[in-house]
Amino acid sequence: MTDPLVSAEGLVKRYPTEESFLARLLGRRRWVRAVDGVDLRIRPGETLALVGESGCGKSTLGRALVHLEEPTAGTVRHRGDDLSALSAADLRDRRRDLQYVFQNPTASLDPRLTVGDAVREALDVHDIGPVGERDRRVVSLLETVGLRPSHASRYPRELSGGQRQRVGIARALAVDPEFIVCDEPVSALDVSVQAGVLNLLSDLQDEFGLTYLLVAHDLSVVGHLADRVAVMYLGELVEVGSVEDVFSPPYHPYTYSLLSAVPEPDPRWEGHRVVLDGAVPSATDPPDGCKFHTRCPIAQADCGEWDAHPDLEAVDGDADHAIACPYHDRLDAELAADR
Ligand code: SF4
Repeated sequence: MTDPLVSAEGLVKRYPTEESFLARLLGRRRWVRAVDGVDLRIRPGETLALVGESGCGKSTLGRALVHLEEPTAGTVRHRGDDLSALSAADLRDRRRDLQYVFQNPTASLDPRLTVGDAVREALDVHDIGPVGERDRRVVSLLETVGLRPSHASRYPRELSGGQRQRVGIARALAVDPEFIVCDEPVSALDVSVQAGVLNLLSDLQDEFGLTYLLVAHDLSVVGHLADRVAVMYLGELVEVGSVEDVFSPPYHPYTYSLLSAVPEPDPRWEGHRVVLDGAVPSATDPPDGCKFHTRCPIAQADCGEWDAHPDLEAVDGDADHAIACPYHDRLDAELAADR
């Protein structure tokens, strides 16, 4: 098996909730379990899509993988090296390899900097290339992402949303990275420009041999770019596999509900439509046992009584496709019985 470029082992990220001074004093502080024990291997050159509803922990996991967030527990490795064990200087160097494209290009760009200064800042911070050649490099980067050299003198407010996202991509690209977390890279953009940005990411991957983690809730975006998919629910992974495996039976019941809820389903989709009850439960006080059991269309009596969420288990001996539900083969029968 190919060694992963980036991997997580037992990754946990918790945040304290906002609470009264008295609650803190009495040690009754509560914690949001945003990422709750994730194991993940991202192979060189692939795009792994991370999907799930809003608030399930996708962005937190993405930030932890590039060490924008220090994990509460567990390990993140890049080329086998534990990022938390690196010295400050080594970690700073390593950040060149691990970049992040933010969901909201408007918020991620400093409104006081021109486009040229914003891209050049990345070169200056990491002292990349001779100082006298950096402006030329900025122009080259702008052209690489489909902007004109004249955009260098503009401010973010003078650009469209799609152009601002291209600037964000140019900033990430400036440091010659290996791995980029693309956090909902087109969800804030007009539908008319989304395809252009996705095509750009695909072209850049081919040209520079990039590896992506694509954080997405729109499954049509996933089909456009991804090689594999990891499905996340309340801070845990419930299914991992190739796009073909995850989007075809057998499914984890949560994956099935996500696929059946796509607004314009694939005309080949022959399944039932499953509308999940209610919102994702609170990550501060998640359900016991299988965290999905409060919304699952086939929940069995003991799903909420286990000590922990079920483990990811290989499907039919296929190590590349794993589902965290020992009852997944009952899904068709349960859904048919409900109709
Ligand atoms: S373990 Fe139980 S609750 Fe969880 S997905 Fe499977 S059937 Fe549903």
